[in-house]
Amino acid sequence: MTRIPLIAGNWKMYKTGTQAVAAAKQLADLADGVNGVDIMIAPTALSLPLVAAALGKDSRIRLGAQNIYPGKEGAFTGEVSAEMIKDAGADYVIIGHSERRQFFGETDESVSSKIRAALDAQLIPVMCIGETESQREADKTFFILDKQISDGLKGFDLEELDSLILAYEPVWAIGTGKTAGPDQVKEVHGFLRNLIKEKYAEALAGKIRILYGGSVKPGNIKELMRLEDVDGALVGGASLNPEDFNKIIRF
Ligand code: PEP
Repeated sequence: MTRIPLIAGNWKMYKTGTQAVAAAKQLADLADGVNGVDIMIAPTALSLPLVAAALGKDSRIRLGAQNIYPGKEGAFTGEVSAEMIKDAGADYVIIGHSERRQFFGETDESVSSKIRAALDAQLIPVMCIGETESQREADKTFFILDKQISDGLKGFDLEELDSLILAYEPVWAIGTGKTAGPDQVKEVHGFLRNLIKEKYAEALAGKIRILYGGSVKPGNIKELMRLEDVDGALVGGASLNPEDFNKIIRF
């Protein structure tokens, strides 16, 4: 089963609308002619419509949001729905990023309801999972990942998960410059694919894309992408610079 790799850039709370448009256009020029890889950038929700208009509907660079609110609409001051994100020009949404779990109280239950909202709005969910440093040290990595998957995907049936993308992001490797070693990544990605096989079906396990995230840079992407169960990367810091991100998508 061939899985088209996805390289996704999470711009977090960086770049004004003007800066986001300039960076997206520069990236589109640099990435011209790159084949065999899906490319996604996730600017702030505010910049999404601006970047979508600047890139145009047929751009190789697809757009994602960094979060959604699970409700369809209503009196939820400050929030943005999946339908609004879709309407702004995004195809993807990152759900359950560790910064959202850490700073905004996201739980596996809220992740589950956001995945539901994303699927209802025809957005592709990129579900982030990963252990903290203390969980790894306590030998709880696989227990935590199993729980995040089991609770985050509770109640979904096989067909619903067809478009789901997983992003394994060890929390201790995000923004720290520490990358999980090839053996650690290989072990966890293999574990996750097997978990999907056991909980759902071999067919889904064979097609689901599992991204690695955590201090991915132009200098380590090749080694990561050579690993059997790594189907792409979720990139934070290095995605902010179009030249670096271009090197990463050309792994
Ligand atoms: C991220 O934010 O998902 C991430 C992996 O960040 P960084 O690449 O900066 O570690």
